[in-house]
Amino acid sequence: MELKDKFGRKISYLRLAVTDRCNLRCQYCMPSQGIDIVDRKELLSYKEMYRITRILSELGVNKVRLTGGEPFVRKDFVNFLESLSFNDKLNEINITTNGALISNHIDKLEELKINAINLSIDSLKREKFAQITRRDVFENVYDTFEKLEKSNLNLKLNVVVQSGFNTDEIIDFVELSKDKNIAVRFIEEMPFNGKGQRIMEDEWNFNKILNHIKENYPKIEQVSSSKSSTSVNFKIPNYKGNFGIIPAFTRTICNDCNRIRITATGMFKNCLFDGGVFNIRDFIRNGASDEELKELFIKTVHNKPENGFIAEENRGNDVSESMSTIGG
Ligand code: SAM
Ligand code: SF4
Repeated sequence: MELKDKFGRKISYLRLAVTDRCNLRCQYCMPSQGIDIVDRKELLSYKEMYRITRILSELGVNKVRLTGGEPFVRKDFVNFLESLSFNDKLNEINITTNGALISNHIDKLEELKINAINLSIDSLKREKFAQITRRDVFENVYDTFEKLEKSNLNLKLNVVVQSGFNTDEIIDFVELSKDKNIAVRFIEEMPFNGKGQRIMEDEWNFNKILNHIKENYPKIEQVSSSKSSTSVNFKIPNYKGNFGIIPAFTRTICNDCNRIRITATGMFKNCLFDGGVFNIRDFIRNGASDEELKELFIKTVHNKPENGFIAEENRGNDVSESMSTIGG
């Protein structure tokens, strides 16, 4: 039994949001007052998340990314990581985090053999960082960055390219890959902002970001990436690290998609752009067996939309929910 859609794409990667809560208020993710968080009992429990992951791993999922909201805001998150690490069907456990709360946990993350940490950092300037995240935590995040960089963990930096805010720092971020073995990932901004009413001066899409970088370097090399990678990756010759661009909004990567998502309240999503297919929490709390859940996953994945444009078209309302409720 495996998870395959009608276009022949095999699903092996789960992105699981462990909470909808966050300690920051990034302007592209939510309005300044935050979002309406759900009642705690509506969130999946760790036991439920563990069960979902185990069942999916028996159907061929071998990679999990934990995200949120901010995963480290949820109490006992590190213990949850430890229990997940006992699942020998999982080859990779990765985390996306804003890094403000994790500097004390880095040794433990190494011990648990977490594969990669994606650290979100949209500016290297304290004031700009505070303007974007609406919280003055740059120093904590930068401290985490330095500690992660020295650790054994693979480190990726997530940079959401925001017109009128941080496009002047794109080259500074590329330069970080000169002496450091890190992967910088530029992400196209999407309208998942909890109706934060963002006005973009200019659309910084994949091509614009790439052309901007090309203007600054005489030579860039494309580097290979895994078939289902969300980013197209490049390198400046002789630089230690690399950089990539994620066409999150222009959606040119859907052909090789191997991902499904489960939100913090248990909504199953076949695609980032769909409106949610069914709520796994309700099935679990109504006593569904492992076999019933497996059948549900197999049937649902079969109908995964061909691409993010079709998923968006089918949802019947605008894309406007906060990314912190979906998990990035
Ligand atoms: N709180 C964690 C963090 O910020 O890394 C994990 C959750 S966050 C929703 C996951 C990723 O989604 C982050 O890298 C964030 O920058 C990105 N993200 C959030 N809103 C976005 C948007 N509207 N467009 C593009 N990326 C977005
Ligand atoms: Fe929080 Fe991450 Fe959203 Fe920023 S992007 S508000 S850190 S969930």
